[in-house]
Amino acid sequence: MKDNRLAGKVAVVTGASSGIGQGIAVAMGRAGASVVINYHSDEDGARTTQQQIEQGGSQAIIMQADVGKQEEAQQLIDAAIKHFGRLDILVNNAGVQQDKDFLEMTLEDWEKVMSTNLTGHFLCAQAAAREFVKRQVQPQERTSAGNIIFISSVHDIIPWAGRANYTAAKGGLQMLMKTLAQELAKYKIRVNAISPGAIKTDINRQEWETEEGKQKMLSQIPYGRIGEPEDIAKVAVWLATDEADYITGTTLYVDGGMTLYPSFG
Ligand code: NAD
Repeated sequence: MKDNRLAGKVAVVTGASSGIGQGIAVAMGRAGASVVINYHSDEDGARTTQQQIEQGGSQAIIMQADVGKQEEAQQLIDAAIKHFGRLDILVNNAGVQQDKDFLEMTLEDWEKVMSTNLTGHFLCAQAAAREFVKRQVQPQERTSAGNIIFISSVHDIIPWAGRANYTAAKGGLQMLMKTLAQELAKYKIRVNAISPGAIKTDINRQEWETEEGKQKMLSQIPYGRIGEPEDIAKVAVWLATDEADYITGTTLYVDGGMTLYPSFG
């Protein structure tokens, strides 16, 4: 159902051709935002996202970019200004896993994950923040000059064997988010993170597709169900609205209780 909570706003969502990014892009469109849909390699997925947004009555364009490349990250932010005349929200969602036992992990495995999951978030955040600072929003106003939302993971605090590259990137993201929130607050730029638990997407398909894998996942979720992209999307929309205007530098764990040390239950 369409609402107007983000009417007049423009959002860039990275990695929006599938999973959580697609869910967020569609939900932001339904809330009235115009959306720049970034994709890396799945153009069909991006078109599906675009169709869903347009069917809901909002505008969307698609932009291919590798967020880990500076020029392409900049082009993504420029596209919002060029096509919609402004930028209000950046959702840094793009992410990959390249799991490997630590003793076998190559520099290539490490750099691939760092490039997308950490450097890419830095590059897009910097390009967006340089745009946001042009706005002159006064401290007493109950609105921000711009919003940056990082899609992190419960693995920014839960170690995860066999994924040293992924956990290091997500842990790094947590401090990147907090530091930017502190540094950019004077410009009235809000910076927050959402850390999902287990959400049913392509990234963990191998786990939830088998009964054994699904039961293992459920054993780590006190709330008793695996999350859906919409669970994250609803929170991202709310975090981007002025209802959340006093929230900056925070990580919202949207995880059905995964971070509650369920084995102690
Ligand atoms: P997904 O594989 O469906 O989505 C990841 C997206 O990132 C894909 O669309 C992919 O094309 C895109 N991408 C990869 N490299 C890119 C690059 N260099 N430039 C631009 N886009 C790129 O999986 P998802 O679960 O939707 O993941 C989205 C985010 O959520 C990731 O950051 C992931 O780490 C995080 N996350 C997911 C879960 C989960 O359980 N699914 C849990 C915690 C965190």
